[in-house]
Amino acid sequence: MRGVVQGVGFRPFVYQIATKHNLKGWVCNTSGDVKIEVEGERRALDRFLDDLVKLAPPLARLEDIAVTSRPPQGYTGFEIRHSIAEEGKYQLVSPDIATCEPCLKEILDPRDRRYRYPFTNCTNCGPRFTIIEDIPYDRPQTTMRSFKMCHQCQQEYDNPLDRRFHAQPNACPKCGPSLSLVDSNGGSVETDDALAAASRLLKEGRILAIKGLGGFLLACDATNEKAVRLLRERKRRPFKPLAIMVATLDEARRHCQVSEKEEELLTSAQCPIVLLKRNKESTVSPSVAPNLKYLGVMLPYTPLHHILLGETALPLVMTSGNLSEEPIAKDNDEALRRLKGIADYFLLHNRDIYSRYDDSVAIVELDKPQIVRRARAYAPYPVHLLFPSKQVLACGAELKNTFCLTKDNYAFVSQHIGDLENLETMEHFETTLELYKKLFRIEPEVVAYDMHPEYLSTKYARALAEQRKDLRFVPVQHHHAHIVSCMVENGVDSPVIGISFDGTGYGTDGHIWGGEFLIADYKGFERAGHLEYVPMPGGAVAIERPYRMAVSYLLTLLGKDALTPDLTFLKKVSKDEIALIKTQLDKKINSPLTSSSGRLFDAVSALIGIRGRIDYEAQAAIEMEMAADEGERGSYRFAIVEQDGVSVVHLKELFSDILSDLKENVPQAKIAMKFHRTMADMIVQMSQWLSWRSGIRKVALSGGVFQNRLLLRLTADALGKAGFEVLTHSQVPTNDGGVSLGQAVIANFVVTE
Ligand code: ZN
Ligand code: ZN
Ligand code: FE
Repeated sequence: MRGVVQGVGFRPFVYQIATKHNLKGWVCNTSGDVKIEVEGERRALDRFLDDLVKLAPPLARLEDIAVTSRPPQGYTGFEIRHSIAEEGKYQLVSPDIATCEPCLKEILDPRDRRYRYPFTNCTNCGPRFTIIEDIPYDRPQTTMRSFKMCHQCQQEYDNPLDRRFHAQPNACPKCGPSLSLVDSNGGSVETDDALAAASRLLKEGRILAIKGLGGFLLACDATNEKAVRLLRERKRRPFKPLAIMVATLDEARRHCQVSEKEEELLTSAQCPIVLLKRNKESTVSPSVAPNLKYLGVMLPYTPLHHILLGETALPLVMTSGNLSEEPIAKDNDEALRRLKGIADYFLLHNRDIYSRYDDSVAIVELDKPQIVRRARAYAPYPVHLLFPSKQVLACGAELKNTFCLTKDNYAFVSQHIGDLENLETMEHFETTLELYKKLFRIEPEVVAYDMHPEYLSTKYARALAEQRKDLRFVPVQHHHAHIVSCMVENGVDSPVIGISFDGTGYGTDGHIWGGEFLIADYKGFERAGHLEYVPMPGGAVAIERPYRMAVSYLLTLLGKDALTPDLTFLKKVSKDEIALIKTQLDKKINSPLTSSSGRLFDAVSALIGIRGRIDYEAQAAIEMEMAADEGERGSYRFAIVEQDGVSVVHLKELFSDILSDLKENVPQAKIAMKFHRTMADMIVQMSQWLSWRSGIRKVALSGGVFQNRLLLRLTADALGKAGFEVLTHSQVPTNDGGVSLGQAVIANFVVTE
């Protein structure tokens, strides 16, 4: 049997059904799969096979069962044999899974020996991927190796009828990991109940760093405005939304609207952060998610969280334990060093985390779950490929980096690594890559990387190229990778019209792309159309200050008379800076050309007075989405102009229409909505035109701009009505976190040519 069949209670399950049907033989884990040999009557064997598939444990995922017949060996019983390590073989590893019901019952039961024990787990739940160092998945290959099981735990572990039979992280208060509470200097806090003390501190408004499954989370009372503000200040993160954890589904409903599908996602064994529409009555402090309609909410996924949330009886902010864009801290001393000055106290434990693992973030949109940040409980489960792939390493993009390794019919997209902007994150990239190579026995023969020369992931690939002349290296265009990523996860391998809308991507002409209409397949693409180019005055500065983009669009498209003094957005910008922007544009100093749709959203947001400076990626666009009045039906004009066989979307009319609306004091919310509708119109018209040209009826939507739920809804709706088959993301993010998957598949096909 192949699939996720180890560390999920599979062997005891096999033992039970074999015994039930009175079959003899054995079951055994190897590095590659689970092998079963059973002998008995033909009918009993058939029933055994039936049960094997139908009754498999909740976390098991069967991918493949191969059956062969052998002469009977005359076994006298059924046994579970020791694991066998096999050279070069690999198998799927289960991600970490939220606490199951029976375990939860135990920790809440004062008579149980695991009452309030924060490291309770069983074969159906608990840590997996974060503690595993190599396969086969056995205790000595995990960070649990330093804990020797007590007599009782060992009995559970050895008993095939026990829920904890071969549960590798099995532990109890007597023999397992334990908590300790220390202050910000690492001095231990005297208490005989660290968890109760931590709950008290949280209720008093303190900020705690809490060691969890895949790293440290920073926690505070989410209803305490002062505490939340202090956390933001110390974390140097003024606006970016923070996630909260609430005790129960009912509690989630008190703060947010929860649809049926959202409930399913929230309460799933993956237990991701789900972005939910916030209720007006919610007591969660406004600073948790300033200017946003949504709250990122998750339920407790470890016993520690369950106890903490139960005892504080408060919604708690739970955000990655890091300073701004660094990776999440995972080791005790590392946390004490890096989170000093942020946390007042540290709730530590002594079970080491082998692999860093952020919380996953998901939404329900277009009636299906869509992953926004893919990490805990999703990675390292692979994306399935329609074809057997070469062993490819794809290095991914720069922001929200993931890498991807392929082998056989699997694409192992790594967990969210982060923004590759500093040494720590790059280290996280490299150590995680080594782990995946080891776990899945992959030695890449092909390396794919983004064409952007400055991405650290690109530099990593180029440095590798210097050392390894035996490997093939394939540069991949960013937006092509986005579209192929979307095709792959939808199981589509015929050409598509690809709408790739995002912030930044290096184009084959050296300009910055991001409003791209492609005709694409796995091997290549034609840039059939794009938004017209405008300069980005100041380069990267124009991303942080969207008003610069607004000035650029106005001056470039409408001429210098367009910057009239009555434009309110200009009042917040110094005269000197405006003069500087003008010079940069006139003299073409540090003003790269861009066709980015992200920059277009930024410009409009700034122009209509929503946001001129940002604190986190896409903030201006996000706040414009939040502001849009969905009842507004109007839209603006634009033009599609053929230039040398490429369809360029001209935006002059769009901007002059917005200026007239501003002059007539049309409310911001209405302009925002009209703009969204215009973008959807644009995509539909371009799709129709490209479909007429190519005969293709499938449209793939990918790129970070489609995290805009309003735009995604409008676009998918309109494309559907126009008769297109619409492909959108679900398993991997539409943002740059999904790029590595596309890169890997493209490289596989390019070298096969
Ligand atoms: Zn359990
Ligand atoms: Zn024990
Ligand atoms: Fe992108």
